[in-house]
Amino acid sequence: MKKMRILAIDIGGTSIKMCISDEKGITSEYKEFDSEADQGGLHLVDNIILKIMEDYIGFEAIGISTASQVNSEEGSIIYANENFPNYTGMNLKSIFEAKFGVPVKVENDVNAAALGEKNFGAGKNFNEFLCLTYGTGIGGAIVIDSTVYKGLNGGAGEFGHMILHPGGEKCNCGCVGCYEMYGSTTALVKKAMQLNNKYTNGRKIFEGLEQGDVLLEKVLNDWVLEVAYGLVSLTHIFNPPAIIVGGGVMEQVKLVSLVTSKAKELMMKSFSDVEILRASLGNKAGLLGAASLHLPKID
Ligand SMILES: [Zn+2]
Repeated sequence: MKKMRILAIDIGGTSIKMCISDEKGITSEYKEFDSEADQGGLHLVDNIILKIMEDYIGFEAIGISTASQVNSEEGSIIYANENFPNYTGMNLKSIFEAKFGVPVKVENDVNAAALGEKNFGAGKNFNEFLCLTYGTGIGGAIVIDSTVYKGLNGGAGEFGHMILHPGGEKCNCGCVGCYEMYGSTTALVKKAMQLNNKYTNGRKIFEGLEQGDVLLEKVLNDWVLEVAYGLVSLTHIFNPPAIIVGGGVMEQVKLVSLVTSKAKELMMKSFSDVEILRASLGNKAGLLGAASLHLPKID
């Protein structure tokens, strides 16, 4: 059988990744460039079109994973924040279909990453699972019956904005005490930098831990507890067979096992069969998710 050639595009705030994927998630012709998102939606899209025309031929479909809220039926951007000026309202599906004459599907980045894990990664053996991505904030997706549950306006799965600390820190979303103000990588870095301003990212924090910084270990353990609170609440709500945790910081195997044991210690025993798994596709999850938009649903 002839292999499929799906052009996968992953649009993020800092970079855009593109590749060709076949139906098995085997990728080739990888390319990455600055998104220059601050120059606006039109510039962003024109730039992608130019790069496609320069480097890609013979693809039969385009799958797009993008930051922002997406109406995946229309293939349009419902809402983009100030990092993507004039991106709100753009219909990527119609722009790319008109330009390249192939079917185009669009999904938001967190949902796409969950679909990537479902089709090609840690979620392969599960029809139902939750995904959480720890980074600047905390992204979430709910996979039920092998598809992403969207909710009324496509916004389902905003786990980062569960209010776990009423009266606590003010969040960008306008609420107070959201999970991501305490459990995101940003929250960890903020606390670590209060100890020592060399701890500017997850990697430097883990170097500090290896060098035996005891105070830093306390900061980490407090953060692990915050991460676990969210996972425990979600486990009690969904009773899911699996939760997949991703984001750069979760590439630390040891960290995932710390979070897992803390969460299992806190949750009701009858729920503790839940498997907490590390996302396995890393920064390719969005691309593979974008490609998998064109695959038949698998159970
Ligand atoms: Zn919030």
